[in-house]
Amino acid sequence: MALNVVMMGPPGAGKGTQADRFARSRGIPKISTGDILREAVAAGSEIGRRARAIMERGELVGDALIIEIVRERLARPDTANGFVLDGFPRTVAQARALDGLMEGRPPLVIVDIAVGDDELVSRLTARRVCSACGANAEGRTDAACRRCGGALTQRPDDREDVVRERLRVYARDTRPLVEFYRDRPTFRSVDGALAPDAVAADLASAIDAAGRESPAAPADRAQERTR
Ligand code: AMP
Repeated sequence: MALNVVMMGPPGAGKGTQADRFARSRGIPKISTGDILREAVAAGSEIGRRARAIMERGELVGDALIIEIVRERLARPDTANGFVLDGFPRTVAQARALDGLMEGRPPLVIVDIAVGDDELVSRLTARRVCSACGANAEGRTDAACRRCGGALTQRPDDREDVVRERLRVYARDTRPLVEFYRDRPTFRSVDGALAPDAVAADLASAIDAAGRESPAAPADRAQERTR
């Protein structure tokens, strides 16, 4: 059955890395709205021009624009076996729109990676990303990217003042989403303060357990038994 996952968690919780890892392990696409917007900024497209200043201040781009981006992305055929959303939804309005887009598909599995604020600030301000391939690099080193040898840089929105603003925006706009989803049988939370391998293992078992809760699963399993 298609696994439609929403990876939630504050900036710096490791969502991007974990979403990437989980998506690769299951052969489904990771869809990161932050990556899509950064590509648009780098390409200088109309969307990029609209989003750039907002992103550099650590604020959220408008719901209508981001919902349209996700609607188009989810319509592509590579999402038929599932997907992992990273950085979307970030507001209750986006979550309601996503529910609308899920009609006719297996229900969402929502997993929240929980990490405390102080840990998040120190992780984000130390984060470096590769200017060539976008890979994440932990720590304050200016060594080359391990994946492609490109130069490491700091994302403009990983400066401490912007990080604090992003955490404020997260608490105000996105944390209420945890409440929006919490009562669903397919919602799970994992401890993101653990080492990355332990978080990955917890996530995989939480997502699989939640996937078994989805109402479509019993019919799917019955189908598998008759094959
Ligand atoms: P991220 O890489 O997910 O931290 O996203 C980087 C920035 O892109 C955010 O700080 C926002 O300015 C913007 N962004 C990404 N996803 C969304 C979203 N779902 N809604 C609004 N703004 C977003």
